[in-house]
Amino acid sequence: MSVSEAKSANTAKRLLRYVIPYKFGFLAAAIGMLGYALIDVYFISKLPSFIDVGINDKNADYLRYAPVFIVLIFIMRGVFNFIASYCLNWVGTHVVQTLRQQLFEHYMRLPVSFHDKHSTGELISKVTYNTEQIKQTTSRSLSVLLREGVFVSGLLVMMFLMSWQLSAIFLLIAPVIAVVVSFVSKRFRLLSRNIQNAMGNVTTCSEQMLNGHKVILSFGGQQVEKERFHLINNLTRQQDVKLEATRAISVSTIQVIASFALAFVVYMASFPEMLESLSAGTFTTIVASMMMMLRPLKQLTTVNSEFQRGLAAAKSVFAILDEPVEQDTGTVQLTDTKGDISFKQVNFSYPGHDKQVLYDISFTAKAGQTIALVGRSGSGKTTISSLLPRFYELSSGDITIDGQNIRQCSLSSLRNQMAIVSQHVTLFNDTIANNISYGLTAPVSAERLLDVAEKAHVLEFANQLPDGLNTVIGENGVSLSGGQRQRIAIARALLRQAPILVLDEATSALDTESERKIQAALDELLKGRTNIVIAHRLSTIEKADKIIVMEQGRIIEQGTHTELLAANGTYAQLYKLQFGTEQ
Ligand code: ADP
Ligand code: MG
Repeated sequence: MSVSEAKSANTAKRLLRYVIPYKFGFLAAAIGMLGYALIDVYFISKLPSFIDVGINDKNADYLRYAPVFIVLIFIMRGVFNFIASYCLNWVGTHVVQTLRQQLFEHYMRLPVSFHDKHSTGELISKVTYNTEQIKQTTSRSLSVLLREGVFVSGLLVMMFLMSWQLSAIFLLIAPVIAVVVSFVSKRFRLLSRNIQNAMGNVTTCSEQMLNGHKVILSFGGQQVEKERFHLINNLTRQQDVKLEATRAISVSTIQVIASFALAFVVYMASFPEMLESLSAGTFTTIVASMMMMLRPLKQLTTVNSEFQRGLAAAKSVFAILDEPVEQDTGTVQLTDTKGDISFKQVNFSYPGHDKQVLYDISFTAKAGQTIALVGRSGSGKTTISSLLPRFYELSSGDITIDGQNIRQCSLSSLRNQMAIVSQHVTLFNDTIANNISYGLTAPVSAERLLDVAEKAHVLEFANQLPDGLNTVIGENGVSLSGGQRQRIAIARALLRQAPILVLDEATSALDTESERKIQAALDELLKGRTNIVIAHRLSTIEKADKIIVMEQGRIIEQGTHTELLAANGTYAQLYKLQFGTEQ
């Protein structure tokens, strides 16, 4: 067994484990398929006596009894077919449902670094397309294997019993067919993998276009996007054609091989000794059986490849499920922290990237203080703010909260201590009220909600909407302006009452007018907490207890507004520059 075959076997075993809870449904499906195939064989085995006794011997009684028999047989066949299809689909849909649920939950538990590396489109396509592929291909191949496999074997046994001389030819062609099948399935496995990857690209590309629709329109990117998609789309089609071509060629080859067997039978029958011993019924039945075997044989040829396709899909799903989730080994439960934060010689590079992003970052924020981070874009401010909730693991150094190293804290308790308002506000397709209270397990009183909505100046625009706070905003809040979205995010943070607050350019989407309006809300928000504020407007920063100036991942200056101005360094320059433009 080769390595890849061993892996396939493992994947199949793992997939089978998903079927175990539904084993009775599976058993019923198997019985249905067996019954269906055996009834067909039984029906054909009655053909010789129908011809020999009924037609040749002109037995009218026999012929009168045959119609009833035919109808009964077909009723039973229908019942078996229904049981098989229904049960197999029942099991299959359950397996798809389980896999989808697991993927969904796993995506949520994967670290931020995983999501940095994978596009949303690719991940969505696994939940929707790949899981469905697993169901379709495996259930189809299973039913072909059982139903057609039993049918073909049954016919073979029957033919050998009727005339082993005529049927012996099958022993010769079987190995030839096996060789063709094995060649075909290798090629199929490769092509299926390509198709699945290509499908992921189709989704990724579409997703990119839909997300960046406005940018494309304003920068005239239609042509570029059109061509990019055309390439990917065409690649997917080509793979599909290759798959179909392989299937068609293999089917034709097998049928030609089978025609030799048929020709051989007719030739053999021409010998006088053979003619003596063969009845018309037997001969007709053997020839008819051979013809009837062509379709199931064709399906059996591709059954392995079909199954391989399902396995390829399963493998890609399992690969995601095997991705390590966020390390949550900390046992310390942080509760009611005061909010003393300390960074000690923190070095950091993003996982999978060589470039070091933070060098030797050390600073402290005492409980209740406001620390402002300033510096050019790309200097590492956002990175610092995403290390605090442990979205990423440090390369070296320590971060402590109230003297407790955050590595030893459980993730949920750590993240419960902070509210983060970032540049990119994520809103869910729900009411404004539910977006504000998002993630809170305890119910929130209406007064409290109104209070924060008022303070964050959400009420101001919500009152003009048809249902006030209960207005449903579209997906990701598309019907709201950037400033309105940020006010909702601020209300969300206000409601949370966490001891630590991180504001990452939280007011960047606001115009001066709205910023002035919510300045009071922000001041309210900052009160009584430890705050890490990243702001692009220096006016927000002046009041900070400590200002940290960053450049290319390093802290180059630290101090209060007056101290830094007196030092006449980078901060002083920045200040003068902005002071000049704002006047
Ligand atoms: P700032 O917030 O100060 O503008 P960032 O902390 O976002 O800067 O970025 C600091 C550096 O880290 C930049 O050079 C940026 O390219 C890099 N960086 C930011 N996010 C990632 C990421 N998810 N993966 C890899 N590199 C990143
Ligand atoms: Mg940033």
